[in-house]
Amino acid sequence: MSRVVVLGAGISGHTAAAFLRRWLGRNDHVIVVSPKPTYNWIPSNIWVGVGLMTPSQVVFPLAPVYERHGIEFKQARAVAIHPEGRVDDPTPFVIAESTLAGQEGTREEIRYDFLINATGPKLNFAATPGLGPDGHSYSVCTETHAAEAARALHESVERMRRGERQRFLVGTGHGSCTCEGAAFEYIVNLEFELRQRGVRDRADIQWITNEYELGDFGMGGMHLKRGGYVTPSSIFMESLFAERGITSITRAHVRQVAAGVAHYETIDGPEREVGFDFAMLLPPFTGVGLTAFDRQGADITSRLFRPSGFMTVDAEYAPRPYEQWRADDWPRTYQSPAYRNLFAAGIAFAPPHAISRPYQTPSGAPVAPAPPRTGMPSAMIGKTVARSVVDMLAGAQAPTHTASMAKMGAACVASAGANLLTGTAVSMTVFPIVPDFDRFPLYGRDLGQTTGEIGLAGHWVKVLLHHAFIYKAKLKPGWSLIPE
Ligand SMILES: Cc1cc2nc3c(=O)[nH]c(=O)nc-3n(C[C@H](O)[C@H](O)[C@H](O)COP(=O)(O)OP(=O)(O)OC[C@H]3O[C@@H](n4cnc5c(N)ncnc54)[C@H](O)[C@@H]3O)c2cc1C
Repeated sequence: MSRVVVLGAGISGHTAAAFLRRWLGRNDHVIVVSPKPTYNWIPSNIWVGVGLMTPSQVVFPLAPVYERHGIEFKQARAVAIHPEGRVDDPTPFVIAESTLAGQEGTREEIRYDFLINATGPKLNFAATPGLGPDGHSYSVCTETHAAEAARALHESVERMRRGERQRFLVGTGHGSCTCEGAAFEYIVNLEFELRQRGVRDRADIQWITNEYELGDFGMGGMHLKRGGYVTPSSIFMESLFAERGITSITRAHVRQVAAGVAHYETIDGPEREVGFDFAMLLPPFTGVGLTAFDRQGADITSRLFRPSGFMTVDAEYAPRPYEQWRADDWPRTYQSPAYRNLFAAGIAFAPPHAISRPYQTPSGAPVAPAPPRTGMPSAMIGKTVARSVVDMLAGAQAPTHTASMAKMGAACVASAGANLLTGTAVSMTVFPIVPDFDRFPLYGRDLGQTTGEIGLAGHWVKVLLHHAFIYKAKLKPGWSLIPE
C-alpha cells in the first residue's frame, strides 16, 4: 500500500492525480492537496474577462469528482516539505494548512512515498507597484479576477455608449512576465467585443509587452508554415494587429501602475508613461513559496528550489550566455536531483533558462520573457511523471518516462473573437516547444509541424476544447481517451 501525494489541482496536478488513480491499485492512496475547492479551466477565463462567460462556467467543485474516483482531497495549502521525515521517523511528509471555512490555518502532516509538486505559479503582482486587482489594473489569471475585469469593461462600454472615448491597455505588467499568449488572446477578444457592442470607434487599444517583437510569446518567436510559405510570427501578429487597429509598445518593462497611467522603460529608451482608462496587465510568476527541511529540521529550501521559488529538477542550470543555451538543457523526467521520490510538474518546475533572448533596460530592469509552460505540456508532464511514479512503486529504480519540452510539440488555439458565425481563432502548432538548433539549424523547429492559421474553424475548435477539457477534468466516462 503506497501513498502518492500531489500538491495542486490545476492542469498538471489534476492530470497526474487522475492517471495515478487509474494506474495504481485500489489499496494505494492518491491524495491531492490544493487550497481552492474548485478546478478552474484557466484558458476560458479570457471569455469570462470579456463578459461572455460567467465564472461558474469555467470552474467546478473538486470534492465530488475526487470522492467518486477514490482520490482523497485535502483543501489546504502546502507550506513545507520534509523529504527526510524526522530523526525518529524517516517517513517523508508535507505540512499543509487548511483553507476550509472554519479551519483556516490548521496544520496537518501528510505522509508520502512519492510527492508531485504541481503548485503552478504565485501571481506576483507585488513585483510592480500598483499592478493588479488590488492596485490599478485588472487580470484574467483567475476566474474571480476575470469577472472583475468584465465588470470594469462593461462600465467602459457604457461610457463609450454615452459618447466618451476610452483607452485600453493590455499586456504584461513586468519585464519578466510569461503567458504573453493569454494577454494576446485577451486584447483581440476585447477588440472583437467592442466591435460587437458597436463602440469600437470610441476605443483606443494598445498592447504593451516585454517581447522583443510581436509574436515572440516567450518562445523566441517562431516561423510558421502557412500554405506553402514561411512567415515569422512577428509578421503574422503585426498584420493581425494592423487589421484590428491595435497599436503596440514592445520591449517594455512596466515599472509602476498608478491610477490611469502605467510607467514603463524600454530596452533602448528613457522612462515613459502611457495613460489608460482600463488596463489588463498580467503579473510575473514565481514559485508559490514552499519551504523544505531536513530530518534535523534544518532549512534546505535552497536544495530543492531555485531562487525563483520553482523546483529544481533534472535540468542543466549552470548559467551560460544565450548563444550557448542548448535544447538538452531542458529537463526530461522532472525528478528532483536531491530526492528520488520528489517530482515537479507543470509551471512548478524551474526551467533551466528562458527561451527568448533576454534584454534589460538602461537602468538594469529585465526585459526578458519567461518561458511559457502552457496547458498541453503541463498536462503531458503531469501524466508522464505519474507513469514514472507508478513504475517506480512497482520496482523501477529510476523514472521510466520522459517529456522534454525540447522533444515535445504543442498545439494552441488562441481565441481572437468569440462568435459562432463571425468569430476567429489563431490555431498554432509548434514542434518542438523549445527550439533545437542542432536538429533544425535554420529555424530551430520542424517547419512541417510548426504551423499557424487564423479563421472561424479555429473558434469552433476552441469552443469544442472548452467543453472537452472540462468533461475530461470532471473525469466523466471515457475521460482518458481525450488527449492532453
Ligand atoms: C488567462 C490565461 C489563459 C491561458 N490560456 C491558455 C490556453 O489557451 N492554452 C494553453 O495551453 N494554456 C493557457 N494558459 C496557461 C495554462 O493555464 C497553464 O499552462 C496551466 O494552468 C499550468 O498548469 P499547472 O498545473 O502547472 O498550474 P495551475 O493550473 O495554475 O495549477 C496550480 C494548482 O496548484 C494549486 N496551488 C497553489 N499553491 C498551492 C500550495 N501551496 N499547495 C497546494 N496547491 C497549491 C493551485 O490552487 C492550482 O490548483 C493560460 C493561462 C492564463 C493565465
